[in-house]
Amino acid sequence: MSLSVVVVEDEPDIADLLALYFRREGWTVHLCSDGAGGLDAIRARQPDFVVLDIGLPGDLNGLDVCREVRARSDVPVLMLTARDDEIDRILGLELGADDYVTKPFSPREVVARVKAILRRGHRQSDPSSNADFGAIAVDLGRRVVEADGKEVALASQEWSLLEFLLQNSGIVLSRQQILDGAWGSDWFGDPRTIDVHIRQLRRKLGPDLPLATVRGVGYRLG
Ligand code: CA
Repeated sequence: MSLSVVVVEDEPDIADLLALYFRREGWTVHLCSDGAGGLDAIRARQPDFVVLDIGLPGDLNGLDVCREVRARSDVPVLMLTARDDEIDRILGLELGADDYVTKPFSPREVVARVKAILRRGHRQSDPSSNADFGAIAVDLGRRVVEADGKEVALASQEWSLLEFLLQNSGIVLSRQQILDGAWGSDWFGDPRTIDVHIRQLRRKLGPDLPLATVRGVGYRLG
């Protein structure tokens, strides 16, 4: 898989290390050290993937860049963050990044995350799989979900999660089962990632989503 990647990271050691690992995969890497340069590169190069540090010098930090990118593109974005408390915002409706890693990280883990996100994005659904819950209508083949007749935008991870929950309707699933089933067994995320995305699904789809929290175990749809 030959990919083009834009890395926006102002710390040269980290940027160079990521570039080294990405180039080993045969990917084309373009490095930018501030937000404005990153935005220009993303617009000009239309990369397959973006790795974006949050703490950047200049007028635009990584959150600003992510918001700008999301406004016009669904290119997968992996955020680099030094702070756990930013995670909800990063993955949330406002910013819509696909995933994050917390510094310090291993470059090998970043490569694995990138591959996992790209695989999820390319996965095909059974075109006949549809589901309705009250005001919610899901068409997994067309990757469209509507709530109250209005289309709801879901991030790729949220799609994978919803798809897996639908395929296992009525079954209580542990967070680990959801991690493995929805995003692949090579997923490194901690179980809290599931909770973040479940919250997103609930918020976006509203109260008709029959998704129950099963205390001490995990979640059950339907
Ligand atoms: Ca930084």
